[in-house]
Amino acid sequence: ANAVLLGLFLRYKNLRNIGGWLGAFTSFMLADLVTGNYFILTLFLSIANVLNPIVTLALLRLFKLDFKEFNKGMTFLFLFIICAFGGCLASPVFAVLTIPHIPNTFMSTDRLWVDFGMWWTGEILNVIAFLPILLAIPDKKTCLRFIKDWKTLPFQPKNLTPIIAVIVSVILTHFFIGPGAIMFPIAALVLASLTYNLFFVSIINCFVCMMMYNSLTAYYIAQSPDAYLATTISVRIGLFMLALTPLTLTIISMNRQKLYHQILYLANHDGLTTAMNRRYFYEESERAVTITPIKPQQAKTVTILILDLDHFKKINDTYGHNVGDLVLQEFTVQVRKQIRDSDLFGRLGGEEFAILLKDLSLQQSVEIAQRICNTAFSTPIILEDGQILHISVSIGLSYQTLPYCIPFQQLVKRADDALYQAKEKGRNQLCLESSLQNELKMQMQHS
Ligand code: GH3
Ligand code: MG
Ligand code: MG
Repeated sequence: ANAVLLGLFLRYKNLRNIGGWLGAFTSFMLADLVTGNYFILTLFLSIANVLNPIVTLALLRLFKLDFKEFNKGMTFLFLFIICAFGGCLASPVFAVLTIPHIPNTFMSTDRLWVDFGMWWTGEILNVIAFLPILLAIPDKKTCLRFIKDWKTLPFQPKNLTPIIAVIVSVILTHFFIGPGAIMFPIAALVLASLTYNLFFVSIINCFVCMMMYNSLTAYYIAQSPDAYLATTISVRIGLFMLALTPLTLTIISMNRQKLYHQILYLANHDGLTTAMNRRYFYEESERAVTITPIKPQQAKTVTILILDLDHFKKINDTYGHNVGDLVLQEFTVQVRKQIRDSDLFGRLGGEEFAILLKDLSLQQSVEIAQRICNTAFSTPIILEDGQILHISVSIGLSYQTLPYCIPFQQLVKRADDALYQAKEKGRNQLCLESSLQNELKMQMQHS
């Protein structure tokens, strides 16, 4: 209960008040009284127990350790060191100093070290088994994302390998019990920590700790009942160390993965507008137009739009480069509102952008392009000093029914030629590649 209480106080800040502490203390008292202890002993036991979260929380505050960053680097390791040598130590110290002096007590002064050792190691084993679960319980957003992934991503049987390996290794300890048994699950736990998220790893860890504790103590106590204390303490410390490995590994692997995705995003997107950068846009577009048998939801048509802001140099010259940058950002926001998430949007360089629309008719594509053009022209950009700026954009469009076997560059070239025409004709307009103009007329007559 001490480890769970600490977890609750860490997770839910609004519990950390007089009401929260009184509630916890009363529960400890009631639980102990209901199970048959008498008042004065219960009082001291409850104080000893509540001291665990109190001291740990105070030390975390003293060392300014933010538990929310428990999944960053070494914070997690420090958290457990503080638990083990803070709260987990404070409880038994208080207990052995007070409880043996209470009348009719179960602790006696001549075996203080036994009680102390058992209590302390019990606390640290509980902390490593239960605290991570409480800290890693996913919030609502993560739960929803997880359920969505679960429903949409295909089930991969290989993801079950680590959990099966953990179960098998724990079962093996029952058949080949001996000094090596404590290390049986380590390989499977490492595998699990590289596969699952922290919440699952914490649950697996807790399961392993409980099962192993049960089998190892039963075995060793049967072997050498006279060395009961040393054996139990040794098993508990051993399991604490065993459990620390997968937790630390999961966190490191999670951080690396997060960092990798951040870096991947930075490598693929433009820093100013967050649109895809040129290389990534081309890569993803090539992928979209290449028919592959393993992708059943392949697009059937693609539309390429090349967009170039008009007289952008003049905006820079008149208002400064900063305003130019702001215009690029505002324009990106406008464009995003007009296209779908599945469409590709990239900045090819300077004030030139490209869009790849999937599975639209020529008429629908023209409507979207025209809307982007109209919105840019009719939406004034308001500068910090209150000045109002009007922009316009010229757009070239090419359209292709798939499968398409010529290099993607050709499609871009066709849209680029159309853009050149739009500029020639006076800017602030959409031009289609020449071969499409009759097709569009026909489509419009049909509809
Ligand atoms: P046109 O209507 O023919 O397209 O004329 P334009 O002035 O838009 O075209 P031009 O190619 O002459 O000028 C583009 C300008 O865009 C020149 C360059 O300084 C500016 N530019 C390129 N990249 C950035 C950027 O990241 N930020 C800002 N503020 N300006 C940029
Ligand atoms: Mg331009
Ligand atoms: Mg340009």
